[in-house]
Amino acid sequence: SEQFSNFGQRLCGGSGIEELMDDLGTAMALGGPDTKMLGGGQPAHIPEVNALWRRRMQEIMGSDGAFEKMLSNYDPPRGNPHFLEALANLFRESFGWDISAKNIAVTSGGQTAFFFLFNALAGAFQDGRRKKILLPLVPEYIGYANQSVGEDIFRAVKPCIEKLGEHDFKYRVDFDHLKVDDDVAAICVSRPTNPTGNVLTDNEIAKLAELAKTNGIPLIIDNAYGAPFPNIIFTEAEPVWDENIVLTLSLSKIGLPGTRTGIVVANEEVAAAVASMSAIVGLANGNVGQALMEPLVRSGEILSLSNEVVRPYYIDKSKAARQWVAEAFDDALPYRVHLSEGALFLWLWFEGLPISSRELYERLKARGVLIVSGHYFFFGLDDSDWQHRNECIRMTYTMDEATVKGGIEIIAEEVARAYSEA
Ligand code: PLP
Repeated sequence: SEQFSNFGQRLCGGSGIEELMDDLGTAMALGGPDTKMLGGGQPAHIPEVNALWRRRMQEIMGSDGAFEKMLSNYDPPRGNPHFLEALANLFRESFGWDISAKNIAVTSGGQTAFFFLFNALAGAFQDGRRKKILLPLVPEYIGYANQSVGEDIFRAVKPCIEKLGEHDFKYRVDFDHLKVDDDVAAICVSRPTNPTGNVLTDNEIAKLAELAKTNGIPLIIDNAYGAPFPNIIFTEAEPVWDENIVLTLSLSKIGLPGTRTGIVVANEEVAAAVASMSAIVGLANGNVGQALMEPLVRSGEILSLSNEVVRPYYIDKSKAARQWVAEAFDDALPYRVHLSEGALFLWLWFEGLPISSRELYERLKARGVLIVSGHYFFFGLDDSDWQHRNECIRMTYTMDEATVKGGIEIIAEEVARAYSEA
């Protein structure tokens, strides 16, 4: 529409992430029993976790003034000082990182943190230079794709694909083709990765951190699923942070997506920049997630919750979903599943699929199964001939057994039908 500015042209006209969140939010709010929501990154409702939120809310209601403080006060733009302090202590004690509250800023969800960071670091500069965010391995999180307020800001590198056995695979960073030049503003990865469930190895992270440092740019690590919370990570992977790393966390995947609480851990300059942006865009962040979580961070209960409840719950779910895929799919079909090393998804690859993943999405939606077409996750890449980008889908495995198993069976039917049309 002509009424919109350049900013408006980029942000007002819809996006993959809007489509996905609309499918998700509508199914959660209104979905009938026949909708199989394997689309968005909705965390499971884990009974022990929900019981804890209930307990915390009752404690807040029962203590003098806490409820009114939570609902009726503005926090500072950077976040609640008690929450920031508790987090800094947790990171120092858990990992030995040399940080204080000045290294942390809260945002309205991790999503908002990325909007701030990408636009503050990349795009057009006063001296005419233009800089990009380098994604060393796509597929990468769909939520980044449309966040630039100016020009396209992503440059992505294809991965090495390691085929494992008959029906598994894993992506690895292709360091031979990963080049950093003057127009790279920062390197960014999600770990565990949405959509694939990949966890970059410690060696890959060390190499990326070194590459960033030698080029004087930050390495942004999106830790929405990582340690120490929610710790939805099934391999051994060392959490890392230093002055050159911007680490983001979130309270969403431990079970509080409705509170919209993101956390940025960075050097003091970057953390202050995030707080400045929060003030301009939203004055302050929501208080509720921070208020619910602060004593759990202080006591360390957030760690036992992550390690003893959340992580094992998702390991079991992931294994069950992988098993149902093996049972539902015809062994003769060339399907492959990315190793599930963390996060909430299975990433399925159908090599040589005669229809696009977008068409598969439409056929599945018509049968009441919501997944996400893989093509959205390959942004920032020039190579439109690369067939792989149209051969993958992401399915979330967090819902109840009937939904996930039933959904997988329908996916298997539709995939078999598509191959038989060739
Ligand atoms: N980063 C990744 C990799 C995600 O998967 C998500 C949500 O799905 C986010 C960031 C943002 O989550 P939130 O804004 O709820 O913290």
